[in-house]
Amino acid sequence: MLRDLPKVRGEYIFNYDFRGSSFLHVGGRCDVMFFPTDRNDLIGFLRNRPSNLEVTVIGNTSNTIVLDRGIRGCVINLSRHVDRIEFRLPVAIVEAGALLPDFISLSVMYSVSSCERLYGIPGTIGGAIAMNAGIPGFEISDVLVSADLVDHDGHETSVTAQELNMRYRNGNIPGNSIVISATLKAHSAMEVDLGGIIKEATIRRLRSQPAGATCGSAFKNSPNMKAWELIKASGCDQLSVGDAIVSEKHCNFLMNAGNAKASDFVGLIETIKRRVFEATGVLLEEEIKIIGER
Ligand SMILES: Cc1cc2nc3c(=O)[nH]c(=O)nc-3n(C[C@H](O)[C@H](O)[C@H](O)COP(=O)(O)OP(=O)(O)OC[C@H]3O[C@@H](n4cnc5c(N)ncnc54)[C@H](O)[C@@H]3O)c2cc1C
Repeated sequence: MLRDLPKVRGEYIFNYDFRGSSFLHVGGRCDVMFFPTDRNDLIGFLRNRPSNLEVTVIGNTSNTIVLDRGIRGCVINLSRHVDRIEFRLPVAIVEAGALLPDFISLSVMYSVSSCERLYGIPGTIGGAIAMNAGIPGFEISDVLVSADLVDHDGHETSVTAQELNMRYRNGNIPGNSIVISATLKAHSAMEVDLGGIIKEATIRRLRSQPAGATCGSAFKNSPNMKAWELIKASGCDQLSVGDAIVSEKHCNFLMNAGNAKASDFVGLIETIKRRVFEATGVLLEEEIKIIGER
């Protein structure tokens, strides 16, 4: 199957190791990682790939645990090359592999207001849309105009933000679709204190979030209580499984204290869910995505 991979302009890396590259420093290997050079390279790959080749898309893995047995088939990664950012005010066209922090930094440099309130979220634009990344009171859906998608067979579509009907930490991307690029609202920021917003976001994150090998919030907030409040109230704020630990600084952040395996994180997540349910009757839902061979 891997011998029948289509000819592409981008790179294939076989036996790609996630432990060395993923945000949590865990995970096995995937059979092959594909870094397309541009959208046509990606579409050509999808149209010509062997029909039995499984395809998975990742962004920057800042919200993803790759399991220890790795991922079968091909993982598509747009972050190396499919990352163009173009300002055409009142919008910006941003390719899915561009990093959200890079887009925000460039916007600030050009005095453009768009997603600056999301400063500090470390993923790609594709990941931010798939997750509807946000902070209290602002989500990327607030500035999304439309997204260009391609399915695993290479069929392209464009959807408006209204059609996607994005929800809390759920971009509602139709099954099997890959975000290739997004059109985001972007306007001249003469009257917006961009520097002040970035400074405030930085201070808030430094104060409340741990640095190091983490993946952001492990669980979604429930309608009536924040996930960290439920975790603390259930006595899970000092739990660990192997080297997978609950952060001392923010108990909805899990961290790799050294040599954790993905299975340690899965064990920790299951233990927290069970204890929180027993203590409060609330079944926490993971915000983190867990991918790979079980
Ligand atoms: C320190 C820290 C702080 C964080 N703070 C926040 C925060 O304040 N708010 C917040 O919302 N999140 C936060 N996160 C979580 C994370 O950064 C976001 O969810 C981010 O948007 C994920 O982007 P990514 O590119 O890393 O996606 P990944 O983790 O690689 O993927 C996440 C999901 O998106 C899908 N995906 C990725 N790219 C595409 C694509 N092109 N097309 C279709 N699907 C795709 C993947 O298949 C997967 O299901 C934080 C994480 C860290 C480490």
